[in-house]
Amino acid sequence: MASRSNADAPVRWAVAGGGMLGMTLALRLREAGHDVTLLEAAPGLGGLVSAWRIGDITWDRHYHVTLLSDARLRAVLRELGLDASMRWVETRTGFYSGGRHHSMSSTPEFLRFPPLNAVEKLRLGATIFTASKIKDPGGLEQIPAADWLRRRSGRGVFEKIWLPLLRAKLGDNYRDASAAFIWATISRMYAARRSGLKKEMFGYLPGGYAALLEKLGERLRAKGVEIRTGAALERVSGTPGGGVTVAVRGDGERTFDRCAITLPAPTVSRLCPDLDAGEHALLSGVRYQGIVCASLLLKKPLAGFYVTNITDPAPFTAVIEMSALVDPDQLGGHHLVYLPWYVDAGDDVAFTEADASLQARFWPALKRMHPHLDDGDLAAFQVSRARHVMAIPTLGYSSKLPPRDTSVPGLHIVNSAMICNGTLNVDETVGVAESAAPELAALPPLAVAANRATPARA
Ligand SMILES: Cc1cc2nc3c(=O)[nH]c(=O)nc-3n(C[C@H](O)[C@H](O)[C@H](O)COP(=O)(O)OP(=O)(O)OC[C@H]3O[C@@H](n4cnc5c(N)ncnc54)[C@H](O)[C@@H]3O)c2cc1C
Repeated sequence: MASRSNADAPVRWAVAGGGMLGMTLALRLREAGHDVTLLEAAPGLGGLVSAWRIGDITWDRHYHVTLLSDARLRAVLRELGLDASMRWVETRTGFYSGGRHHSMSSTPEFLRFPPLNAVEKLRLGATIFTASKIKDPGGLEQIPAADWLRRRSGRGVFEKIWLPLLRAKLGDNYRDASAAFIWATISRMYAARRSGLKKEMFGYLPGGYAALLEKLGERLRAKGVEIRTGAALERVSGTPGGGVTVAVRGDGERTFDRCAITLPAPTVSRLCPDLDAGEHALLSGVRYQGIVCASLLLKKPLAGFYVTNITDPAPFTAVIEMSALVDPDQLGGHHLVYLPWYVDAGDDVAFTEADASLQARFWPALKRMHPHLDDGDLAAFQVSRARHVMAIPTLGYSSKLPPRDTSVPGLHIVNSAMICNGTLNVDETVGVAESAAPELAALPPLAVAANRATPARA
């Protein structure tokens, strides 16, 4: 827990962004004795983990699982009295390759996996093992992921396995990703298997993330954090004499001693004109992968794999059968499937494609993969879009990040782009907040003329 060194002077903090990062940071700053206002643009808290209504159920708008090894997230769950309710399930992973489904959930299945010959399997296994043994991924940050994988696994494995997987997550941006991304992905997979029973156990909270958000929101309010939803920041600027002035759309300005901004890097650059040219350049240089993610409610199950990786051409980049993990009683007896399509944040064509057009492309492709489905099995189809999901781990990524403490006194950037040599997940995100909180909580207040509320500017 963060502790405040400047005991007699609470700092008035604004935390911008009510996703898991902003909520965790707001909680820790408040626990350290500061006055905290959490500002979130959306009508509710949660950001990428927020829930929505699809058909007659409420569940996460993006698929989420927790690993047994997600220690930082689970600590938060414990604080909220929720960890004991987590349900842990041994899941299966599939590959759709050459028009067929293959299970890849155990060593015997890996050895039987038809798309690869014996030498290729050996090289794939050796690549994964080598990556899992690397302790310091720093050197990998300078090597393109594709080069590293081709060299380690050979062309055949690269073309048949790695390339489709890289494209699935990073699209064409895979060319710019460093080998540290592969290391981080494999490390997370290994951590999942190391803890627990050497099996891949995935967990979820009954009620989904909505249940966690409700408890965390309650905890924040009970501790005295002021939560303002529907509060879209338009500008964050330095204030002569000290402090940071935050302009909220339609709601005027307020000055705080300090502001921690958890929004994506390009948004920070846009909202904070007072940052210096070097900071703007670094923030704009962080490139993002976005997602167009369809949720489907089905009357029938698919193949029982939580994740199906697709190596054949398809309009979506994987199939996530959530109901292979989540008990159907949580899902109104339906089968919930996500069809993610990861795209570049700047891909306007993808982000403006209508739901009906996406359904016309996705549903026939899913039926081809699962011929037992027919049109009567589709109970609902709904699409979520998010442009700034994951900062692309480009070459030398950790040396290209803007500083947390900016040139604007009192303005601090604490966002998920600060995850270096890791994958984007809630555990890492909470980790960014937890590691920043003690240092931020110890900062003194800046002189603020007044905590004034003025009418919105025209
Ligand atoms: C498809 C998908 C699948 C995932 N699967 C998993 C998984 O299985 N396991 C896992 O652990 N993680 C998973 N994640 C990752 C996880 O969702 C993220 O790590 C986490 O939610 C990031 O939280 P954040 O607070 O950094 O960002 P966000 O959730 O993006 O929060 C930022 C907040 O800022 C708000 N905001 C933006 N602009 C403004 C503004 N101008 N003014 C005020 N507020 C603003 C947004 O509305 C948002 O609420 C997944 C993510 C996606 C998209």
